[in-house]
Amino acid sequence: MLPGEMTLPEGILPLTGQAVNQLFQMVSVEADTWLAHELLDRLKMLQRIYFQDQSANHNCPSCGADKIIRKGWRNRVLGTSRGKVRLLVMQACCKACGRVFRPLNDILGLPFARRFLDELVEKGIKLGTQFSFARSANSIRELTSGSISAEGIRQKIAERARSIELLDDVSGQTVMVDATKAKAGPKERGVPIHLAVTAVPGPFVAGRPSIVKKLVHLHAGGIGPLRTHLKKLSPDIVIHDGGEDLTGCAKHVQRCLWHLSHQLGHYLWQDGMAHKDRGDYQDHLKTILWTGDNRKQRYDQFVKDLESFGFRTAAGHLKAAGNEAFTFLRAPGITYSTTSPLEREMRELNRRADVGVRWSTPGVENVLKVLFHYRLNLKPET
Ligand SMILES: [Zn+2]
Repeated sequence: MLPGEMTLPEGILPLTGQAVNQLFQMVSVEADTWLAHELLDRLKMLQRIYFQDQSANHNCPSCGADKIIRKGWRNRVLGTSRGKVRLLVMQACCKACGRVFRPLNDILGLPFARRFLDELVEKGIKLGTQFSFARSANSIRELTSGSISAEGIRQKIAERARSIELLDDVSGQTVMVDATKAKAGPKERGVPIHLAVTAVPGPFVAGRPSIVKKLVHLHAGGIGPLRTHLKKLSPDIVIHDGGEDLTGCAKHVQRCLWHLSHQLGHYLWQDGMAHKDRGDYQDHLKTILWTGDNRKQRYDQFVKDLESFGFRTAAGHLKAAGNEAFTFLRAPGITYSTTSPLEREMRELNRRADVGVRWSTPGVENVLKVLFHYRLNLKPET
């Protein structure tokens, strides 16, 4: 070796074919060290500027006096996805009463309870809406230099769920509702999750028509809160599968046309009709629902025929739905007459909720609310 020549780091010499990877690792550590120092230094500089600019506005939180002086720095440690960073926060002292406080906590966004930067929290929340909290916490540890516990992710999701503000104006829009059971709460069969979204045709994406959906409502439990919420929102059109009575929840209530004929098959089975014959009846109903004139009259006649043939359950099913079967013909601005745009969301809901563990009712509601808020409301425009 010549005098003054730089030595190569020993670590990158022996592994042939790994030099660039090892160099990257090494430089990443240096970069993160640099980042931690810069963050510390610049935050200090910023606080000095804030303190000078606004010193006239600082009042003692105890006695209200405005004579305050600086009194050193206090350590804060925050979790980030580049590891833990140490920050210094300015302290001040009231000359009148001697109270020591941190005048810039609010303006810095560093309240006492903060333990993580938003960027790490955001990663935890996003993972937690997709996977179990434990798995999300593991992924954070494996894929970043930071860490946040499974319980931490659960709490952050609950906080986020509380802060979500959903659409409060759905006038002129088509709202679709559906429900599915999730294994939560003390009851063996779990609790129903009620979901409501607005749906309008969106632009063509990769040659296919898309549907733009926005989350309107999500809760776990009985139907009550959904009815109350809908009545408050007073949407023009609500589409549902008939699982619950939604009379009075919208100007126009429409039964999902797909479900109407699908369910007919089930009721005909209950009435004892052979499998091979059911399809014809379902097809006949579909023709009435989707095509031609005088649909309501033909529908009523079909119900009468079913009754006279002795298929009482099926007739009763259609009779009960009669008032909501053809709303779409007279509801202005209706975008869909089935709940099929919701099917994909319900599958997504089940995928996250049905993970083999029993949830608490608020726990499953929080994670699903955040999931669909991110999925539908915060989706980047395509
Ligand atoms: Zn004071």
